[in-house]
Amino acid sequence: MIADNDEFTFTKIESEFPELEEYDCLIRVEYCGVSHTDLLASAGTVPGHEVVGIIEDVGLLVKNLEAGTRVGVGWQLSSCHACKFCESNRENLCPDKKSFKDALLGGFGEYIIWDARFVYTIPEEIPSAEIAPLLTAGASVYAPLKELSIMPTSRIGIVGIGGLGHLAIKFAKAWGCYVIAISSSLNKKEEALNFGADEFMTISANRETLESIGQLDAIFSTVSVPIDWNNLLKLLNPYGKFIMLGAVPFPMTVDGNLIINKKISLIGSIAASPECIRSMIEFVAVHNIKAEIELMEMNTENCQTAFQRIGRNLARYRIVLKNLKLDTPDNSVEGDHEIEEEGSSHEDYKDN
Ligand SMILES: [Zn+2]
Repeated sequence: MIADNDEFTFTKIESEFPELEEYDCLIRVEYCGVSHTDLLASAGTVPGHEVVGIIEDVGLLVKNLEAGTRVGVGWQLSSCHACKFCESNRENLCPDKKSFKDALLGGFGEYIIWDARFVYTIPEEIPSAEIAPLLTAGASVYAPLKELSIMPTSRIGIVGIGGLGHLAIKFAKAWGCYVIAISSSLNKKEEALNFGADEFMTISANRETLESIGQLDAIFSTVSVPIDWNNLLKLLNPYGKFIMLGAVPFPMTVDGNLIINKKISLIGSIAASPECIRSMIEFVAVHNIKAEIELMEMNTENCQTAFQRIGRNLARYRIVLKNLKLDTPDNSVEGDHEIEEEGSSHEDYKDN
């Protein structure tokens, strides 16, 4: 399905694949998550990068994957495999990395071709639909836990309880942390606690109330809207980490004295390396972590609906498209994942 991002409309196209290159994997798409990042794909391209599917064929140099294996892919398509970042298992920082936007076709279709070094085997016990959004969003929240020395004894604040934030709660809780959910909307309290948060706080709470939650070792910010960053920084312990996961497309004003006096770190996080994604998948299998999803049949109409819901922050956490051209006995979209009517109680969700 090819996108016209101005109108969020889609047109069905037929396309022929070229011969596979040495490290290519041809994957038949079963499920594809939809994220804000897909909305940024160029008009005239096929979006979709949170794919779970079955390998149909592999290139000559692919040794660890074979036809018939259930696999997933995330945001990154390939990298140079020669720079210092690639050589130290940090391919997500490669200056020549390629993303789904560089792929011939994205996951809103029947097949994709992906570099096998960025294709991940999915263990049997993990359901396809729920793992799809984790391949990018889940990896984004898991990477800081693993790579920034977040301890199981840490007290963590999660700011924004949306697509990224609800996963941050689940991962941080499974990591062993004490988790405080912080949202602009009181409506999210019940669900945040159900996702595993130990406490809930609205971001508009007065300073005394905010301070009553005690000092935090790290804050995961998943919002993309201006908020009072300094109020949050004040909650951090000395050596506290403020981790930016949500894209913030504007300058941030922070109090330098707060940063200096407590030796606070401001840290960005983008996607995750293949090594980290493999570790995340193992962690998900052990802790049975699932994304909260709306499941929809993959067709032009639903691609448009999905883009509109994501664009307006109406999605109930994540949307996953299911390719109904599957050779499975049950080709229906399960009822308990059906989308809610617009105007529901979730309409006021503004976080990522
Ligand atoms: Zn590289």
